[in-house]
Parts: sequence; structure tokens; C-alpha cells
Amino acid sequence: MAAVDVTTGRDIPADVQDFLDGAGVLVIDGEERAASGGATFDTVDPASEEVLASIPQATEDDVDAAVQAAKRAHLDGRWRTLPAAKKARILFKVGDAIQKQAESIAWVDMLDHGKPHKHAMGEMIAAANCFRYFAGWVDKVYGDTIPVRDGRFVYSTREPVGVCGQIIPWNFPFLMAAWKIAPALAFGNTVVLKPAEQTPLSALWLIRILKECGVPDGVANLVQGVGEVTGAALVAHPDVDKIAFTGSTEVGKMIMRSAADNLHKVTLELGGKSPNLIFPDAGDISRVAKKAAFACFYNAGEVCTAGTRLVVDRSIHDEVVEQVAKAADATKVGPGWADDTAMGPLVSDEQLQRVKGYIDIASGEGAELVAGGGQPEEYEKGFFLRPTVFDGVVTEMRIAQEEVFGPVLAIQSFDDEDEAIALANDVSFGLAAAVWTRDVGRAHRVAGAIKAGTVWVNTYGELDNPVSFGGFKQSGIGRELGPHAVEAYTQVKSVWVATS
Ligand code: NAP
Ligand code: MG
Repeated sequence: MAAVDVTTGRDIPADVQDFLDGAGVLVIDGEERAASGGATFDTVDPASEEVLASIPQATEDDVDAAVQAAKRAHLDGRWRTLPAAKKARILFKVGDAIQKQAESIAWVDMLDHGKPHKHAMGEMIAAANCFRYFAGWVDKVYGDTIPVRDGRFVYSTREPVGVCGQIIPWNFPFLMAAWKIAPALAFGNTVVLKPAEQTPLSALWLIRILKECGVPDGVANLVQGVGEVTGAALVAHPDVDKIAFTGSTEVGKMIMRSAADNLHKVTLELGGKSPNLIFPDAGDISRVAKKAAFACFYNAGEVCTAGTRLVVDRSIHDEVVEQVAKAADATKVGPGWADDTAMGPLVSDEQLQRVKGYIDIASGEGAELVAGGGQPEEYEKGFFLRPTVFDGVVTEMRIAQEEVFGPVLAIQSFDDEDEAIALANDVSFGLAAAVWTRDVGRAHRVAGAIKAGTVWVNTYGELDNPVSFGGFKQSGIGRELGPHAVEAYTQVKSVWVATS
């Protein structure tokens, strides 16, 4: 087969190219600058393997400068004490600016991560709406008056936590930055954000939008670099008041250990191995199978909530497997700029090797490969992988227990509802799950029995800003989005007043 040139159709818009040319900066106290040590690292386009930009590797000194800037901004109240209506107006403006520039920012995330442009566009709109949602919260957080006894007037207030160190992964670069920064600012905090080294680019676009829309210098700072250096320095910094982390469970545990030294407040959004349960009364099997494939292969399977375990009633098993394998084979793998691409490359060669390693492990454990299993042959370059499906998976296999973070689906079977629930819960994670059934009683019964922070019924993967999101078990601590974000980014003060 003749090799396909993946760069065909990659006509980078002029504003995106200008952005890439100037993307090698940190942002500390409103100033865009190089790292103090002068070291840099490259970020690449995972479809073409070309270098997109050279990014400064922040040192411990740079992280300290960013934290001190955020601390000064917190203490002098340049953001916190602005009238609520003004803060809200600025955050609404940020939402509108993101929406207006969505096409271009989506190009940046597509190039840096590999995802299809149309999918990145959906994330941009979600990010714009995240700022709008939290803009609406600015003047709606207040305390209580608490009747205690005569002669005492007691009230509570909700205050910002202070300086928030925010560390994010590479699967939804811009959206994760929005999920972190929007609530932190809405509740009056200041931030230092560290994006993942694989996708450092689009966070800079957001920081620039914040400045243009009137967020004062020093309120939102950006440091770049590898987790072990930049991330670790942020987590260990004594002047950080809170760490908000999204990433792997393994690093989440390290962060929690490290944060113990300073008793930083910590919220963790971690990994998953989410079960997708199909009962025989689910309805049109071919439709459900297509949705199940999408639930696993969307964003090349690099989704914390990906439905990576398909748990199917034995009576419909053969039909489901056939349809899911068909959907996997029909998924068009290609570069994000091609209109017909349904799935882009994996984010990096390291991730590709990791996922291929899991494919070998699953085969070695005796799981049966029914679709994919390797790289598409038509591309000479790029970290592409075909959507892969394993049948005959049992709970004891690593492929049933560990997060692969790639387009690899494991199919398990059950005989009755109790076994389905037991299989669903028999992992250390508890991020999400789905139930497909037309029996309303069963739908609620199973949703209630599954240990996960989100359960979908007859749908998969839906999230929205008003709906709180987070993990049970080893999938995390705390909730993002929705009203529970108030808990994550404020702290309560009780005030006692002697009135006599
Ligand atoms: P990761 O390796 O845990 O990295 C996440 C972030 O932590 C990156 O910015 C990383 O920096 C940084 N980091 C690594 N080591 C660190 C350390 N010792 N101290 C401080 N920071 C450190 O995760 P990933 O591979 O980027 O992302 C995939 C994971 O994120 C999956 O497990 C997925 O389930 C999870 N995720 C969860 C959610 C959720 O909301 N529950 C959402 C999305 C993703 P560098 O990459 O620059 O080294
Ligand atoms: Mg990249």
C-alpha cells in the first residue's frame, strides 16, 4: 500500500502559526518570559512527528516566582476585592472571547494532542461555557447566620482558599485548563497552572485571553515543564494553599504524599476503568454497540471516563461483539485536520508504546483479539493505532483492571444482574459507568449499586458544567464543576460576635 502523506490538508491558519512562533514563554506576574535556566523542551504534532514549538522548562526559581506573584495578588486583593459584578463581567467576557477564537484554539489543541478538529471545537465551546457558568456563581456564594444563644451573633463567610497550584493532563488540554481556572477565579483565588509537557500550548492562549479581558497581572500564572521538576516544585511549595490535580492515580498518590508536608488542601481527579453494562433489554443492539465503541474510542481512548470495559449479558454477547468489532474496524483513523477522521493518533510515542504493551499483555493473558491490535499501515509517520477490541476478558486479567489510556476495549460477560454489578465494581477505580436497559427499575437499581462518581443510563460520556464530576474509590478526592466546586475553592470562616 502506498504511504499516505499525513500533512496533506494541514494548512495552518496564519494566526495559529504566529501563536506557535511565540509560544515559548512562561507567564509570571503578567510578564511573558523565558525560563531562568534557559532550558527548553519540544512539543510535537503526534500525527506528523514535527516539532511545533520549543517550550521553556521552568526551574524551581521560576515556580517560586510564579507562586510569589500569585501570593502577592491574593494578599493585596487586586482580584478578590473587585466588586462581584465586575469579576463576573470579566469572566463572561472570557467565555465570549474563547467562543470567538474557538476555531484557532481548536487548531492548537489538534496539533498538540492529535484529536480531530471537530472534537476540539466541542471542547472549546464547553470551555467557553465553563467560564460563563462560573461567572454566574461569583455573587452567589455566601455564608449563614447561626442562632447559638442570646448575646451572641454568629455568622459564617466563604473565603477564597488563596494560591491554587493547578496541574493538568494532556488529553483535553484547553478544557482542563478552563475547568481549573474558571472556578478558582470565580471564587476569588489566584492560580499557578502547569500544563502537561506533551500539550503545553493552548494554556498560553487562555492566559492571554484572561489578561485581555481584564484579569489583573499575577492572578493567573503559567509555568511549563516536566512533572518531576515543575510539578513537584509547585506541589512542595510552602506558599501554595491548595493543589488541584487531574492526572493518573499513580501521580495523584505521590502528590497527596508530598502535600502532606505542608498540609496543602488537595483535590484529585484521577484515572478510571469504567464499566459499560449492556442488558438484554437494551433495545437496538447495533445502535448500542456503536455507542459502546464510541464510548471507548473517542479521543483515541485518552479519556478518564472512557468506557473501557464492556460488560455484556451472555445471551446477546455474540451479537454485541460482532457489532462492536465492526464499529471498531469502521472507525477512520487519521490526522485531526482531515474531515473524515474519527480518531487521531495517540499523544506521543511513549503513550503508543505503553498502549501496545497492554495489547501484548492482554494477548498473553489469553484475551481474544477481535479487532485492531496494531498500527494502520497507510501512515509512515505518526503515533496512530487502530481501535482494538478484546473479548473473553475476565476480572483477574490486567486488561480488566488497569487503565490503558488508549483505544483498547475489554469485553466481559455476565449471566445475571448481580454478577453484572459485581463485575462492574470489581476494580480499584470508581470514576464512571453506564447502564443500557429499557427496564426503568433495573436502570435505577443498577445505577444505585455501582460505585462510581457518574453513572449514565442509555447514554455515555455526557458532562456539563452544572453537574458535579469526580471519582469514588481510587478515582479521586473532591468534585469539580457544579455547586460542589464551591467546596473545592472556598473555605469557611465562623465569626462570633458578643452583642452583650
Ligand atoms: P500524569 O502522568 O499523572 O500527569 C498529569 C500531570 O501531572 C502532568 O501535568 C504531569 O506533568 C504532572 N506530573 C507528573 N509527575 C508529577 C509529579 N511528580 N509532581 C507533580 N506533577 C507531576 O497523567 P497523564 O498521563 O498526563 O494523563 C492521563 C491521566 O489523567 C489518566 O490517568 C486519566 O484518567 C487522568 N485524567 C483524569 C481526569 C479526571 O477528571 N478524573 C480527567 C482527565 C485525565 P508532565 O506530563 O509534564 O510530566
Ligand atoms: Mg504535543
